[in-house]
Amino acid sequence: MKSIKPGRGPLLGSAISSIFAAVFGVIWTCAAIWIGAPFFFPLFGVVFTIAGVVHAVYSLSQATSDQRHSAFDIVDEREEPDPLNVRLGKEAPPPTNSVHSAGFCPYCGAPTKSDYTFCRKCGRQLPQ
Ligand SMILES: [Zn+2]
Repeated sequence: MKSIKPGRGPLLGSAISSIFAAVFGVIWTCAAIWIGAPFFFPLFGVVFTIAGVVHAVYSLSQATSDQRHSAFDIVDEREEPDPLNVRLGKEAPPPTNSVHSAGFCPYCGAPTKSDYTFCRKCGRQLPQ
């Protein structure tokens, strides 16, 4: 399996945008209370503020983390087949054996055979 991770720059930009959204929520809430708007107007600002703060904390932690969550996982159909294709009978159900015996190195993705102990591309020991 390969994964695509979001870049640290876009994550930092997302964190900064979320801070602006949270500040907007605070201004909205204060303005709604000040003009005496019905309760759901200030509540909208509170929800906006909470969502902005949560997203800012998440984005900032991901931007500075060594282990970022993946945005996309790239898997071979033998690792994880498309469930819709399986349901429609266009693809076989997933095998119960390991990634290695499915024919690919779990570290570099190179093709392997079931009798290989080490990957011929990256040299790492393959799980049995
Ligand atoms: Zn390998």
